[in-house]
Amino acid sequence: MIEYENLRASNELFFEELKEITISTIESGWYILGEKVKEFEKAFAAYNHTSYCIGLANGLEALLLSLKAFNFKPGTEVIVPSNTYIATILAVLDAGCKPVMAEPDITTYNINPEEIEKNITSNTGAVMVVHLYGKCCEMDKIGDICRKHHLKLIEDCAQSHGAKFKGKYSGAFGDLGAFSFYPTKNLGALGDAGAVLTDNEDLAKIISCLRNYGSQRKYYNDLVGYNSRLDEIQAAILSFKLRHLDEINEHKRMLAKLYFENLKDDFIKPVVDQDYFDVYHIFNIRHPKRDELKKYLLEHDIKTEIHYPVPPHQQKAMKGILDDKSYPVSEEIHRTTLSLPCSFGHTENDIYRVIEIMNKF
Ligand SMILES: *Cc1c(COP(=O)(O)O)cnc(C)c1O
Repeated sequence: MIEYENLRASNELFFEELKEITISTIESGWYILGEKVKEFEKAFAAYNHTSYCIGLANGLEALLLSLKAFNFKPGTEVIVPSNTYIATILAVLDAGCKPVMAEPDITTYNINPEEIEKNITSNTGAVMVVHLYGKCCEMDKIGDICRKHHLKLIEDCAQSHGAKFKGKYSGAFGDLGAFSFYPTKNLGALGDAGAVLTDNEDLAKIISCLRNYGSQRKYYNDLVGYNSRLDEIQAAILSFKLRHLDEINEHKRMLAKLYFENLKDDFIKPVVDQDYFDVYHIFNIRHPKRDELKKYLLEHDIKTEIHYPVPPHQQKAMKGILDDKSYPVSEEIHRTTLSLPCSFGHTENDIYRVIEIMNKF
């Protein structure tokens, strides 16, 4: 059986170091927001060439606190892609704002800059882009739109650790870049974790205050805060794994290259463009008979996933919350996309086997 993802296999190479790191953190006697969190924040900001990094508890709260940092009036509109993981939308709702969905580009699967501009109203406060599957959005055009209309720009980088557009890292384009380090992400902790990147000192201070009950000095609360603290064990693990992020991304890029070079053209593959350094958090193809293909692969002992089967506006939880307009581009992607095995734990032979079986479909 070729798994879609096996977290044990993806971490096995690092087991010895991970055990040592965990034991030494246990023995340090300090478990939340300490030196190891500070070390990781410094290293992750340096990796992405930003001035500040604030370690947080998870990706959803990285998005939520990013929005909260701007103190938007309730009901302020935030433009988001219509094809994203539900967390992006939930963060906007949790912040008391209104998600306004803009359609993606059918070739990149990322939010279409022209659709952003069409959806701007006098009530728009921010644009929240998602660098889906590990490919950056068109950040030059989107940056221009945000400057022109005086909108805040937040990046959901949960799938784009190490991805670049024109040489610049995701998370370094907007006012704030929000990351998740959920175990399956390209930079994955061994539990929940998240972070925000920024070059803005004031925003960095607000977010580090919000993550710890709105308090900078113990028992004095300046803001209505949250508990979204990063713990020392996850931070120490992340500092170690950050040193291997390029190696992890290169492995995934190498596997993606095998698909590009060997999969027959019946499958619509991701676009490749020299302006983009893609990290293939997800390697997806599209096919009109997606469900049949998924079943066929499973019969041949190959597991795949669908990211995502149901678009946000058609989710049960969003009934009466998101508008019930149709989003045809998003719906087409959800209907035809299939994510293939492409993780750090997969070998070239695994991928050749997937290709061989797929080419007989
Ligand atoms: C994983 C993910 C998140 C949420 O991160 P958590 O750490 O699970 O809260 C947000 N947005 C996108 C696009 C994601 O893939």
